[in-house]
Amino acid sequence: AKRLGKNQQCLYSEEMGIQEVRKMELEKDLQRALELREFFIVYQPKWNVRTDRLVGFEALIRWRHPRLGVVSPLEFIPIAEETGLIIPITRWMLEEACKQSKAWQERGIIQPVSVNLSIRLFQSDNLIELVQHVLEMANLKPHLLELEITESMVLHDVNEVIRQLGSIRALGVKVSMDDFGTGYSSIGLLDRIPIDALKLDRLFTNDLDTPSKRAIINAIVLMAENLNLDVIAEGVENKEHIDFLTELGCHVMQGYFYGKPMDIHEIDIWIYEHEHK
Ligand code: C2E
Ligand code: CA
Ligand code: CA
Ligand code: CA
Repeated sequence: AKRLGKNQQCLYSEEMGIQEVRKMELEKDLQRALELREFFIVYQPKWNVRTDRLVGFEALIRWRHPRLGVVSPLEFIPIAEETGLIIPITRWMLEEACKQSKAWQERGIIQPVSVNLSIRLFQSDNLIELVQHVLEMANLKPHLLELEITESMVLHDVNEVIRQLGSIRALGVKVSMDDFGTGYSSIGLLDRIPIDALKLDRLFTNDLDTPSKRAIINAIVLMAENLNLDVIAEGVENKEHIDFLTELGCHVMQGYFYGKPMDIHEIDIWIYEHEHK
């Protein structure tokens, strides 16, 4: 048993080695990915079930690595955060998302596009100027840009993040709280954090089978209503999810059922199909 243990440990560290090597390669290549134009954006629709209408898009980043293929943001965003590259990457996301929202607006598709922020942006001192700048460059109305933050970002530096969010919302830009209900809870601060919407993490959507789980969603929805916040359910994959969520008072949804995150060609086809439904 002891020998087996030793062998397993050996395999394990070889495995670690491979992961470490991959991380180092990604870290090195990430430096030049922006200038080599290896990033692209996929857009996922947000859908209001009650009005049966499109209500916005979330912009999600992808990295087409020349050797490794498409790398998930779950893998490279943490590296970008460690190295500080998240700041130029987010600037690029904001610029592109604003340009795209403007382009849609000119075709009569007047919907906000949301971009995910990282705590590093709040620590960089000029987030508000950056947001103002990208809006001006794209000549986009502020209400057509939305920013997604997470609870851990707020809890990192409560007063500072609240102050900056206040300035961002004063511009007219919308803010939503992503992955709500997972990890650390900001529930006690919710009346102080200047946001427009809560996004219910897909863990909730995928676990509505028991009455007690549904009671939690119901309570979140009621609380959000009283705080004047919209609620968006993430990870909506099937009719059962939709039925449960509507019954619980949640009407805005995002998930594979309505549309996967799509590149710019696919999303234009999706929009065309949903406009002419
Ligand atoms: P997130 O912000 O919670 O984004 C939602 C994730 O759920 C996306 O994964 C999306 O593809 C996935 N998803 C959407 N609908 C469904 C569904 O019905 N079922 C399932 N199983 N999954 C669904 P993605 O694109 O891989 O992004 C993962 C995370 O990476 C994001 O989570 C976000 O935290 C981060 N991320 C993505 N793009 C950016 C970015 O531009 N900046 C920053 N800072 N983070 C980003
Ligand atoms: Ca998000
Ligand atoms: Ca989320
Ligand atoms: Ca998430």
